[in-house]
Amino acid sequence: MDLKTKVSEISGVGPAYAKRLERIGVETVEDLLFHFPRRYDDYSKSVPIAQIRQNENVSVVGDVWEIKNKKSRRGITVTEAVIADDSGTLKAVWFNQPFLIKTLQQGDRVALAGKLEWSYAGTSMNSPSYEKLDSKVPNLANLNHTGGVIPVYSETEGLSSKWLRQKIKPLLNLVDQIDEYLPEDIWKGQFLPKIQEAIREMHFPTEMDSLNKARERIAFDEMFLLQLAVLEKRKISDKDKASKISFDEELTKKFVQSLGFELTEAQRKSAWEILKDIQNDKPMNRLLEGDVGSGKTVVAVMAMLNAAKAGFQGVLLAPTEVLAGQHFESLNKLFNEFDINVALLTGTKVKNENLKMKNDNVKVKISKKDMLDEIQKGEVDILIGTHAVLNDDIQFKNLGLVIIDEQHRFGVEQRSRLRKESGDEKTAPHFLSMTATPIPRTLTLTIYGDLDVSVIDEMPKGRKQVLTRVVPQSKRQDAYGFIRKEVESGRQVFVICPLIEESDKLGVKSVESEYKKLKENIFPDLTIGLLHGKLKPKEKEEIMERFFARGGSVSGGKNEKIDILVSTSVIEVGVDIPNATIMMIEGAERFGLAQLHQFRGRVGRGEHKSYCLLFTESDSEITQKRLEALVNTHSGFDLAEKDLEIRGPGEVFGTHQHGLPDIDMKNLMNIALIKRTRSVAEEFLENNDLEKYPLLKEKVGKYNVVTKLE
Ligand code: ADP
Ligand code: MG
Repeated sequence: MDLKTKVSEISGVGPAYAKRLERIGVETVEDLLFHFPRRYDDYSKSVPIAQIRQNENVSVVGDVWEIKNKKSRRGITVTEAVIADDSGTLKAVWFNQPFLIKTLQQGDRVALAGKLEWSYAGTSMNSPSYEKLDSKVPNLANLNHTGGVIPVYSETEGLSSKWLRQKIKPLLNLVDQIDEYLPEDIWKGQFLPKIQEAIREMHFPTEMDSLNKARERIAFDEMFLLQLAVLEKRKISDKDKASKISFDEELTKKFVQSLGFELTEAQRKSAWEILKDIQNDKPMNRLLEGDVGSGKTVVAVMAMLNAAKAGFQGVLLAPTEVLAGQHFESLNKLFNEFDINVALLTGTKVKNENLKMKNDNVKVKISKKDMLDEIQKGEVDILIGTHAVLNDDIQFKNLGLVIIDEQHRFGVEQRSRLRKESGDEKTAPHFLSMTATPIPRTLTLTIYGDLDVSVIDEMPKGRKQVLTRVVPQSKRQDAYGFIRKEVESGRQVFVICPLIEESDKLGVKSVESEYKKLKENIFPDLTIGLLHGKLKPKEKEEIMERFFARGGSVSGGKNEKIDILVSTSVIEVGVDIPNATIMMIEGAERFGLAQLHQFRGRVGRGEHKSYCLLFTESDSEITQKRLEALVNTHSGFDLAEKDLEIRGPGEVFGTHQHGLPDIDMKNLMNIALIKRTRSVAEEFLENNDLEKYPLLKEKVGKYNVVTKLE
């Protein structure tokens, strides 16, 4: 057995376990040794029960001898348990947690933390925090000799920490076969332990100090390798050339004057940064961050205008057809006085005013082939599309600028595909991503490969805050009354539901049953529309048209204007309907904070006071906290911060989203660690050639997936 041995050859690892391990990227003994615990539970300060003194904070480890619920005279449930270790027993008491007897059962091993106090029931630990331990590890003595610090591996289905520890333990004698891949200068210079030492300590800690050193080493390695990968990538992309897009000051001024409003200072600054970038012969790689409704589109449009006038083509990609369609409409409007040819190409739609005119101005359907021809001939200045555009065999004549709206919805591959579309391998178009989700600086530095960032941190003048409330079920009828009043005064309403099909298990409202309920029981006299992802694109568009109320007839008939639109989250991004003033969200606990904030951003876009009404059937503490955050916080940036606080970075930026190898999110958010590893990596690459360090190079190679990001 050596490091390269397949895990399936380890005794006790059958095909089923080998599969599970493979799923988390563990195929060899070496992989398994590098699969580290994600956290450690510290029971090192636990004391024998007999030695506990009253009114002192302690933790104890023992077995549950007995646990039962009692009713107190005042009607509260009291859960009483007897916990025993070798030295004695103690009583633990919890109040109003009747379910506890399901969680903690007779025979379970638990750790309790709390204070032993005198109370009505004698001496007991009142409401201690508890943690169920693995009772099948009978030799806690064993854990004690490891200082009572218990490693906990990331919770993957079917792979318990206990199982992993058992399998890893006999492999520890192979650790010495692992070669140190970091140059000695670096690990010594950073006062870090050797890798072999660190690996042993990570799996079987001996004491807190050395464990902390080991964790520091492993965290350092993760980020250091990532930094090397990013810097190496930058070396390559530094060689990329882009076309210089000159800045037409007069034209830009004219455009700004044609807008019906003043640009905010933040919009001006961002536009200036972008326009400066694209005058370079280096491809711009910039992220434009700005809260929902902060006006990112016009800023991007200013860049597109300059690109078009300088003879380049631009692409604007949107995450949904609805949004692409809307961008098409608004760009046509914005470019009304400017001779710019805008085209729309989505999975189902091909639109272009010029082509229509060429075809004798009759309303003929433009074929996709005609459109592709136009694009290739360079007649289309700006192409607006969805993902689908990238799957087509589009040839641009002279692609200079790529703008991606809500960029985190786009896959890595799709972006690199666009890059090749520029024809010449070595020229890359300028890249601008727009997002309402603030991405922490640490992440823009690392997983997004060192993007430049412009921030629109200011809302257009006169924007009113959307009044946000969590509505208790008892006030539901009042809410409907309020909705009716708004509709009667001419406004429109969104109702968002989480799922398409009724799912009893989850108790979630489905759009279909909600639609039926509103149409038949609550608002039989109003016009209700239904929108969800399973509708055909054509149907979807008809509904949206009727909600935009463009040319919709006043009452009756198929084209009747929609008062209330019941929708799934398809409505989420970007849709702009200034007349809508109420955003009602059912099952609010089912959505992320960022998503809820996006929904809320659909209203409050016009002159009317707007409202966001949140409904939830969950009374969990975390739900309450999150919804409260939404009620009290109106800046998407602050909300994102709170979301991070409440849910943690792993949840907010799920690993699946960035496609990195198994990196600890905590490290990705650790600005001090990022800075430290960045500067060590820079210094290393300045003075050394990575080629001369094959072991290190191989490790960096594992981060290739990162370097594919544009
Ligand atoms: P987002 O940043 O969410 O993409 P949009 O670009 O869609 O926001 O802009 C939202 C609305 O605000 C649009 O109707 C747009 O015309 C308008 N808008 C943009 N900038 C300003 C401004 N400086 N003053 C007033 N309205 C603006
Ligand atoms: Mg937008």
